[in-house]
Amino acid sequence: MTGGPLIDTFGRLHDNLRISITDRCNIRCFYCMPDADVKFGPRETILSFEEIERFARVAARLGVRKIRITGGEPLLRRDLPDLVRRLAAIDGIEDLAMTTNAVTLAAHARPLYDAGLRRLNVHVDTLDRGRFLQITRRDLLEQVLEGLFEAKRAGFQIKINAVAVKNLVEPDIVPLALFGRRHGFEIRYIEFMPLDAQSLWDRGKVLSADQIIETISREVCPLEPVPDPDPRAPAVEYRYTDGQGRIGVIASVTRPFCLNCNRLRLTADGNLRYCLFAIEETDVRGILRGGGSDEDLERTIRENVRSKWLGHEINSARFVAPPRPMYSIGG
Ligand code: SAM
Ligand code: SF4
Repeated sequence: MTGGPLIDTFGRLHDNLRISITDRCNIRCFYCMPDADVKFGPRETILSFEEIERFARVAARLGVRKIRITGGEPLLRRDLPDLVRRLAAIDGIEDLAMTTNAVTLAAHARPLYDAGLRRLNVHVDTLDRGRFLQITRRDLLEQVLEGLFEAKRAGFQIKINAVAVKNLVEPDIVPLALFGRRHGFEIRYIEFMPLDAQSLWDRGKVLSADQIIETISREVCPLEPVPDPDPRAPAVEYRYTDGQGRIGVIASVTRPFCLNCNRLRLTADGNLRYCLFAIEETDVRGILRGGGSDEDLERTIRENVRSKWLGHEINSARFVAPPRPMYSIGG
């Protein structure tokens, strides 16, 4: 194959691929899924591990170096260590990570580690059982914490994702920060984005990165920006001035980072998206299942990258929420 790396018309190099492997989930976070009557894609549209591996191999030849497995809840896919083994073995893939809600992680952590997975983002918004139930509509905090600590014992590098929703999680900011310092987890506070299934989002429900940094600096320990940050990382990192750990903020709403975006997304049903907020997507399942060649896949990936927009316009009146909610795109 020829043609060099994946560079869009704004000069952004794309080397980071997020692969959603299911749209199913075992909890129902309100900022992602509806509480009832969830619309899942038909099972037969979900890509097999062979199809995912083939796509990832072609992407790696085009310069993709990082892969993150996500969902829905990726632990719901049977034989996940098999997929991890396949992806970890691809030439050129330097970093393989997964995002999970950890509900069933206790049973899966060691097999996944043995298969070659080393990095996890574990989603924990709160350490309060009542608020966990309120957010996820499931009483499963204990299982999540059990999974988190089992993964730590297995040797994973772990960051914690916490969605920052105003007038809800303010009481959780400090306890989570202290928990992170005590156990060596970097907490990443993610501003609530307009990707929920029930159109509940509005700007007034976004707890901003600035408010979070100010609260932690005041009540836990002063924070300072980590020097020489990676400009392409979505999280901006801050470290505690006493040297005891760091936090990250993913401020998609109040500090959009589209100009440095290096990411592509493959949905569980085989559609390629150049942005979390993209309105259109490109079908690759048809190529994978219709006898298309690797060159066809390459051409399709390049065209998708070439058509990438400058960025989402959450902060403009022109913003239109994507037709799929978060669980169906892959976070
Ligand atoms: N189920 C896994 C989990 O929850 O970590 C992986 C998929 S989930 C869609 C990926 C991440 O998206 C979660 O960690 C959650 O923090 C984040 N997320 C979901 N809905 C969001 C929203 N509306 N705004 C901001 N972040 C969101
Ligand atoms: Fe499931 Fe993750 Fe969405 Fe929560 S954020 S409902 S855990 S997919």
